[in-house]
Amino acid sequence: MIRAIWDNLKGLYSLLVGMKITLIFLFSPQKTVHYPRKTVERENLITYRGPLELTRGKTDPAVTRCISCQMCVKACPGHCLTVVKNPEKSVKAPIEWKYDFTLCCLCGACVETCPTSALAFSHRIYLVARTREELIFDLLADLKARVEETPVLPGEEGASAEAAQG
Ligand code: SF4
Ligand code: SF4
Repeated sequence: MIRAIWDNLKGLYSLLVGMKITLIFLFSPQKTVHYPRKTVERENLITYRGPLELTRGKTDPAVTRCISCQMCVKACPGHCLTVVKNPEKSVKAPIEWKYDFTLCCLCGACVETCPTSALAFSHRIYLVARTREELIFDLLADLKARVEETPVLPGEEGASAEAAQG
């Protein structure tokens, strides 16, 4: 009899602990969004690792910072990267930059290895594809398209104007 009462009390305590946790999360700020009615704010994607992209050039944003050194290619454990040097030796920028996202484990070795900070993880969280080929990216074309779409990034307007004046 005493044992049954004790077991019931333990069960009640466990239930109350569970209810307490439920109530805490019920009234906490929501951490997820109801996609597609809402999307994740840009500032919440800072640490998100989406597929790689080439960073904008320093003088001309449409020109990659990549100097075709191949260090990222050698560091990549998934063999996802193909960087083709320009046959013209005086030109360091590559003529082809292919990235197979289907093989990428997003480890970041390429980003960390790059001596010119030419690579970064994108914040593309709504990426969809119907074939594997759609996930093999031409990063030079991607950089050009991004710069054409957004010539100046938000927050860089002032810096661009100062650079133009100076
Ligand atoms: S994140 Fe890792 S697996 Fe993906 S391309 Fe870079 S080095 Fe390769
Ligand atoms: S490590 Fe950087 S500079 Fe070298 S090939 Fe890769 S992206 Fe280009």
